[in-house]
Amino acid sequence: MKKMFALAAVALATLGLTIGAHAQDFPAGKPVTIVVPFAAGGPTDRVARDLAEALRKPLGGASVIIDNVPGAGSSIGAAKVARANPDGYTLLLNHIAMATVPTLVRNVPFKVESDFEYLGIVNDVPMTLISKPSLPANNYKELTAWIAANKGKINIGNAGVGSASHLCGLLFQSATKTEMTPVPYKGTAPAITDLIGGQIDLLCDQSTNTSPQIEAKKVKAYAVTTPHRLTTPLLKDLPTLDEAGLKNFEVTIWHGLYAPKGTPAPVLKKLNDALKVALKDPDFIKREELLGAVVATDGRIEPAGHKKFVIGEIAKWTPVIKAAGVYAD
Ligand code: ASP
Repeated sequence: MKKMFALAAVALATLGLTIGAHAQDFPAGKPVTIVVPFAAGGPTDRVARDLAEALRKPLGGASVIIDNVPGAGSSIGAAKVARANPDGYTLLLNHIAMATVPTLVRNVPFKVESDFEYLGIVNDVPMTLISKPSLPANNYKELTAWIAANKGKINIGNAGVGSASHLCGLLFQSATKTEMTPVPYKGTAPAITDLIGGQIDLLCDQSTNTSPQIEAKKVKAYAVTTPHRLTTPLLKDLPTLDEAGLKNFEVTIWHGLYAPKGTPAPVLKKLNDALKVALKDPDFIKREELLGAVVATDGRIEPAGHKKFVIGEIAKWTPVIKAAGVYAD
């Protein structure tokens, strides 16, 4: 009996040492996967791919790969990471849906506050209200008239229930007192393709996805959702929705990086340190700024600051969503 206990103790000690050693070695010759809970080619995917590039060097040259797990407004991908092995090799890059899904969607398959380790906020991104190119309105005033004349016939794309475009579209419908038909996609990459093709009428989406299409005149742009106009040359002439008449309309999207709950502390430290280096990478910053995004530099780049911010966002959005009566189901 005594011998069995001794053997068990040795086994436990070895296991502890192994876990410790693995944590110290991280990342040890294995790629780090960032799960993107939306379709490839969209704005969440884009920031994840740019970030993966910027993380490579500070992670000692490790390959950082993207796994697109779209569906249910990010819930499928987020749930996959919540259940993944907490070893640092599977991460999640998600946006404001982490704070809005719990209110917009019932029976979310994970707990935002307790199923994840928070690694840091990456950026803040404005949204833009855009339309198919054939829509006759050329500015926000004309869009208002077009909406009034087409009530009951308008459809608006989104990236699934609980996504940023879904939230923005719901708030827009509530503010303009217009019911529109929602058309869900697995991300706004396929949504914007259909918008360009004229299959849907409107879309509210991150500027990082819409700017290239606005510049190429493949879509029409009417307003930004930030409280102030943007300074980026491409979008500086767009009014804010607030100044266009929808008082206090504001939606700013942020992206953050997460690991499954229980990831060892030394691994989390390495990941957060690498993230902070990546957020200072001049190429990364330049790419983000060009498309209207602002790379995070404040206390939210620390795990505690990130978590505090997300909890604050849940508190901020829950009453807005409830007041607007914009539940998804
Ligand atoms: N922009 C999308 C959203 O509306 C997500 C994406 O495709 O990145 O939530």
